[in-house]
Amino acid sequence: MFVVNDHGRHTRDFTDHGDRCEGCQHIMLLVIGPDTRKGVTDPTPCRQIDIAPTVGRLLRFETPYAVGTAITSATGNLKE
Ligand SMILES: [Zn+2]
Repeated sequence: MFVVNDHGRHTRDFTDHGDRCEGCQHIMLLVIGPDTRKGVTDPTPCRQIDIAPTVGRLLRFETPYAVGTAITSATGNLKE
């Protein structure tokens, strides 16, 4: 299961969003599944385009038109 917010939030006022602050420029991703490692927090910056190849690796299908890179902390020890 992938859970991602559609936009960030201000770093100082969580009730709003939409400017150029650090919080507004970043979103969060939560990945849960049998191939993800328990309790891992990965601070490595990723992009939304990385989600498709990550899903492909987890579900074992090719994503030839995806331009992102699979998020290895979400795929555990699975190989390409
Ligand atoms: Zn902001």
